[in-house]
Amino acid sequence: MSVKDKVVVVTGASSGIGAATVTKLVEAGAKVVFGARREKKLAALAKTLPAAQIAYATLDVSDIESVQRLVKLAMVKFGKIDAFYNNAGIMPTAKLADNHRDEWQRMLDINVTGVLNGISAVLPIMHQQGYGHILATDSVAGYVVYPESAVYCGTKFAVRAIMEGLRQEEGKNQIRTTIVAPGMVDTELYKSISDPKVAQALVDQWHEKSDTALQPEDLADAVVYAIGTPQHVSINELIIRPTTQP
Ligand code: NDP
Repeated sequence: MSVKDKVVVVTGASSGIGAATVTKLVEAGAKVVFGARREKKLAALAKTLPAAQIAYATLDVSDIESVQRLVKLAMVKFGKIDAFYNNAGIMPTAKLADNHRDEWQRMLDINVTGVLNGISAVLPIMHQQGYGHILATDSVAGYVVYPESAVYCGTKFAVRAIMEGLRQEEGKNQIRTTIVAPGMVDTELYKSISDPKVAQALVDQWHEKSDTALQPEDLADAVVYAIGTPQHVSINELIIRPTTQP
């Protein structure tokens, strides 16, 4: 079991779970190509890692050409892609009656179309290689609907359905699939919430009681594990909650 010399592409890598996963993968010997929108954050992460093992670029997962450019960067720099981790996501939760139609659309564009764009960009390469591994960060919100989170939950249910369809269609082509479905993780995700009351409630949960939340590294360990298993093993779903989360 090892990720050594595997080439992994990670989206949503400028903070939280994505950034921690890049670091853990590199520490375990993988070569990692990563992206997100905030260039400064990517550059700061890159400075902490050996240059020979990484490449990065700004990325908007809702733009297929942007995702295709990241995939091309990985192929030019390292010549193959063993795994592609669709991790980017936003969570501007609010009541449906608040009618934040722009936020609904952004969640659909990033959380759902973003995952489809990743699959679209990398699947032809994995077919050519004759193997591959596609992962996505889902959520416990992909299994259970929470109040004030209907659209976010809808996007995460969709990710689970898309990844299960991918598993059924592509297992025979030696393409492995994994969803990592976290409970509460102490990250910046709450910053995408525009409703101050909803945001504050999450800040209270994640930060003031952060001893009970998962840390991004807890999820990164799970991703490194799933990618490191042998080719005949496909870890399809990992649900990971803080022990005390109901
Ligand atoms: P963060 O906000 O720390 O990370 C989200 C990442 O996604 C950032 O790197 C952000 O970077 C990136 N991102 C957002 N929009 C885009 C875009 N259009 N294109 C490319 N990158 C984008 O939060 P988390 O680490 O918590 O979130 C990672 C994933 O985990 C998400 O899919 C989230 O839904 C999921 N999740 C998180 C949970 C939690 O409790 N924290 C629980 C369950 C699931 P940038 O802004 O620079 O583009």
